[in-house]
Amino acid sequence: MRRGVIAGNWKMHCTLEETRRLLEELLHRLESQPACEVVVCPPFTALSTAAALLHNTPVKLGAQDLFWKEKGAYTGQIAPGMLVDVGCEYVIIGHSERRGRFGVPEPDFDATILAYFGESDATVNRKLRAALAAGLTPICCVGETLTERQAGQTDAVIRRQTRAALEGISEGDARKIVFAYEPVWAIGTGEVCAAGEANRVCGLIRTAVGEVAGSDAAAAVRVQYGGSVKPENAADLLVQPEIDGALVGGASLKAADFLAILHAYP
Ligand code: PEP
Repeated sequence: MRRGVIAGNWKMHCTLEETRRLLEELLHRLESQPACEVVVCPPFTALSTAAALLHNTPVKLGAQDLFWKEKGAYTGQIAPGMLVDVGCEYVIIGHSERRGRFGVPEPDFDATILAYFGESDATVNRKLRAALAAGLTPICCVGETLTERQAGQTDAVIRRQTRAALEGISEGDARKIVFAYEPVWAIGTGEVCAAGEANRVCGLIRTAVGEVAGSDAAAAVRVQYGGSVKPENAADLLVQPEIDGALVGGASLKAADFLAILHAYP
């Protein structure tokens, strides 16, 4: 039986004061034993403040990215061990806002995709391996763009991203990864993927995990849906058999909305 996990991706939001207010409200209204794992991923600058507030609570701490090196001359980067040191248990890797080809002219470059940091499947794989080696639970995002969906490439993109993410990762480590199916066209747009389709694609991710890491890993791996999850649509999505939770962006910045999504977990 897989334990569901709902994570809030705060992106580049929240000062220390806003972090304090949001977490205090969340903790005040959260049940002591939520039905699924609950994770919040504030920006790096707020991790230490959040760690202190979350100590001895059911809410776990995650970061939004890491670098794969342990230490060294990598200006601006954060090492996996630094995240562990500050109290993180989770880390988001390969979010679509970090993937992509921004700044690199290619024939199929799509300027409408909010992908700023040029991360590739190979980069994502390096980050996943570094996270696992440090004992962090990675939330690995995969998802197709609108152009890819319209061209009928969704399944191929999902399979490629999932398989590439797992390159060189053992079966035992593969099962620790949380995958998040995040169709790029649904992120921050208010346009949610239909629950049946989200369930189908989450199933595809599981199948791709099975191809690389075997059926035990496929059965164990948790797959979230992310993309405009709101209190109004959460129950429909979370009840789907292949969906083991959600990665929530905008709605995780309001305690009431995030709590309503947590309460929608069956
Ligand atoms: C996200 O940032 O991963 C996300 C899913 O955002 P939103 O919920 O705002 O679409």
